Amino acid sequence: MTAHVIDGKTIASNLRHQLALDVDAFIRDTGFQPGLATILVGADPASEVYVANKRKAAASVGIVDVHRRLPHDGTEAVVASTIDELAADPAVSGILLQLPLPSGLDASALIDRIPVSKDVDGLTTLSAGLLARGEPGLRPCTPQGVIALLDAAQVSLEGAEAVVVGRSQLVGTPLARLLTERNATVTIAHSRTGDLDSVTRRADVVVAAAGVAGLLTAHGVKPGAVVIDVGIHRTPTGLVGDVVFDDVATVASAITPVPGGVGPMTIAMLLRNTLSAAARVTARPLNAAP
Ligand code: NAP
Repeated sequence: MTAHVIDGKTIASNLRHQLALDVDAFIRDTGFQPGLATILVGADPASEVYVANKRKAAASVGIVDVHRRLPHDGTEAVVASTIDELAADPAVSGILLQLPLPSGLDASALIDRIPVSKDVDGLTTLSAGLLARGEPGLRPCTPQGVIALLDAAQVSLEGAEAVVVGRSQLVGTPLARLLTERNATVTIAHSRTGDLDSVTRRADVVVAAAGVAGLLTAHGVKPGAVVIDVGIHRTPTGLVGDVVFDDVATVASAITPVPGGVGPMTIAMLLRNTLSAAARVTARPLNAAP
């Protein structure tokens, strides 16, 4: 079998095109232009690139780009007051605090300062609680991107066996919840899972989000399964994921590449969350809202 390659780049680009139309319609309806505020503390090179991409993507769909750059040695009080200033600003629909933060800053406490209504990364304790209870709220972007990719590839989740490898608050745990909401039967694997291959081999849908390059091979994949690779690793020859692509593509029915799979979807979902946050404030329901 040679797997169908799920083209995240094209799917994300189509979504962004639709979002640009939705933002335009929203501005016409409400007279309000959604705004995304990004906060970058320090000068981590990867974070600089991620934030620049998010800002560019926001502007490209008609969302106002608001940016705050703080020095590496900025104190927790300075970051907190920046969040508070943006939280009080009616022009800002969503606030994104780029992670990781320089050591010495309490990321959890700072994230929890973001009001749930502006939590476009979906990472506050309150947003996580709303997701856990199945109540409406803004969901974390990468897990939403995985679901959107599966939908675009017309993968049926109803009653499917899904295995998520990884249980972080950023990816694995919220994704398991979103898959459960879609009526998949979900297993979460992690670093203490015994015989990982035998667990993932049960799955109709495997999502690798462990942050371990080359973790999933054809040996751990049931013939015909769908494989989503969330992992990102920089190597001298370019980006790779958690999945050994060429090997797994021989047994899977569909697979995402790295790069060009989940990555572009994450930003598309951030933009969608920003529009949803703006819509909630103006009480205008949107087709694009998750
Ligand atoms: P993380 O916080 O380090 O969590 C990794 C998870 O994987 C943990 O739950 C860990 O288990 C588990 N794990 C580690 N080694 C394992 C192994 N050998 N077998 C099974 N499970 C193992 O990482 P993360 O933030 O969730 O990110 C995961 C990966 O996704 C990274 O490569 C990251 O760069 C990438 N990522 C990509 C995007 C994107 O947009 N494409 C977005 C976010 C993250 P324990 O809980 O037992 O430690």
